[in-house]
Amino acid sequence: MRRHGALFAFLVMVALAPLVIPPFYVTLLNYIGLATLVTLGLVVLTGVAGIVSFGQQAFVGIAAYTTAVLAVVLGVSPWLTLLACLAITAAAGLLLGAITLRLSGHYLSISTIAWGIAIYYLFGNLPLLGQYSGIDNIPSVSLFGWELDSGSESYYLIWVFVVAALVAAKNLLDSRCGRAIRALRFRSVMAESFGVDTASLKVVVFLYAALLAGLSGWLYAHFLRFVSPHAFGVNAGIDYLFMAVIGGASQVWGALLGASVLTMLKEWLKDLLPAMFQRTGNYEIVVFGVLMVFLLHRTRDGLAPALSRILPAGPAKSRPADAPALARRAKPASGTDLLALRGLVKRFGGLVAVNDVSFEMKSGEILGLIGPNGAGKSTLFNLITGVLDSDAGAIEFRGERVERATQREIARRGVSRTFQHVNLVSTMSVIENVAIGAHLRGGSGTIAAMLHTERAEERQLLAEAARQLDRVGLGDHLFEAAGSLPLGQQRIVEIARALCADPVLLLMDEPAAGLRFAEKQALAELLRRLRGEGMSILLVEHDMEFVMDLVDRLVVIDFGEKLAQGLPAEIQANPAVREAYLGGVE
Ligand code: ADP
Ligand code: MG
Repeated sequence: MRRHGALFAFLVMVALAPLVIPPFYVTLLNYIGLATLVTLGLVVLTGVAGIVSFGQQAFVGIAAYTTAVLAVVLGVSPWLTLLACLAITAAAGLLLGAITLRLSGHYLSISTIAWGIAIYYLFGNLPLLGQYSGIDNIPSVSLFGWELDSGSESYYLIWVFVVAALVAAKNLLDSRCGRAIRALRFRSVMAESFGVDTASLKVVVFLYAALLAGLSGWLYAHFLRFVSPHAFGVNAGIDYLFMAVIGGASQVWGALLGASVLTMLKEWLKDLLPAMFQRTGNYEIVVFGVLMVFLLHRTRDGLAPALSRILPAGPAKSRPADAPALARRAKPASGTDLLALRGLVKRFGGLVAVNDVSFEMKSGEILGLIGPNGAGKSTLFNLITGVLDSDAGAIEFRGERVERATQREIARRGVSRTFQHVNLVSTMSVIENVAIGAHLRGGSGTIAAMLHTERAEERQLLAEAARQLDRVGLGDHLFEAAGSLPLGQQRIVEIARALCADPVLLLMDEPAAGLRFAEKQALAELLRRLRGEGMSILLVEHDMEFVMDLVDRLVVIDFGEKLAQGLPAEIQANPAVREAYLGGVE
């Protein structure tokens, strides 16, 4: 309710502002609103998903020119040109996204700069677009015959879109798709292992940011009633990025904050500095640059987190109310063939990490996979789960060949995993991290998320996540940031996330590492209980005592090859194993 209170106060402020402040500031607020829309796209694209774009001004420009040409040359009504603007920015975003999103890291950012430069010169050189002098006499937007041509009328038009976009962005990030987007930056492999199509999601996020920039461009053209290439140069793109970073690139409200601070600062410096130096010139850009370096140095995460430390804390989150349980998949009967590896080989250059490994696993058993460090255990996990492709050999899961299947296909078949190196989105809460596990059990998309029409499904997903966290004993930590838990508990969070997928087969890579004795006992107890419920578990573990007590059978690998397999007692008695592996432990 507190959140709604804050939103209501913000709405009242937005609604009353033009009535109480001078026209000059209303105009300034219009620019802030326009910049907030673009920056909001960047917050999601860059701050959350980690895709750095210097080219958002190009989308603003494409939309501004589209509406200018349609409205001035062809006399089309602005509301119709809005649809054209969004269609054309979407097409440009899809095209550019399809080309550049395959590039990684810096290359992607560099290509957005190149694209920004190209578009700027295109605007400046096309006679149809008025070359460098631009297009003027763009009509204002009218609403049921009412011309929105004064500063405060434009204000309301712009800010209705800004408020709607802010709320929609917040809804988006707090949803099934939003959690997947928040995993894109550092946790793509994890997200794929729970069925997220990260490549498509990146395109969606790119498109989303392009559309917000396009909306801003349409509003800009009809507010200023004039467009020229100068507003869409690369420096504008850098300004937008600054706004996102300064505001606090991973928070929705940071977009508003960054756009406000930078727009006002620029305006203020533009007047102040020439007066100080007693001569005209673009000093503000110099001072601005220096300030930026200083601010980035002092507040890496932008102003929003610093501000939220000062402001009163938000509402205490409450446990998700009980919702109807999600559908569960049919499980194979205990004792049937589940997984078979036949002659599996994986090479990394000259190193043979997995060499002709074969073993089988029945449904309902806990199979331990042991071997010294570097033996190839994690590589085997990555082969089974589709992270890596094998060089030879076959993998059968429930009677079907899956050695060429992608991570997502494997996830869909009911294989779920934990990672040796904890793979959580550390800034996201524990319950949200766990809910990623249930990604494939929901189906709502980005639009439903923005409109928050997926409430029922969202409640089910969060209730399931809470249930799994209760099951592993972390029910009291739902709303803590995952990264703030001790490492041992983070491993347990990974187990809850894997369980959230309702798996047939659970793969765990050293789940007991970093756990204290009592925690290990609790984990063993949990795994026994899971087996009792018909779960099949493939377990990589170092702690012999832990493994020997727990597993039904063991497979031992060393230097990528299978050394032995059998019951725990047989393995303990096996001379080759004692020599290669257990020797040092006894
Ligand atoms: P384990 O999990 O049994 O400790 P791994 O499967 O992680 O062992 O590693 C097996 C061998 O393969 C090691 O020698 C490791 O250095 C190597 N290796 C693992 N992943 C890669 C990779 N992506 N590229 C190159 N070598 C790798
Ligand atoms: Mg390993």
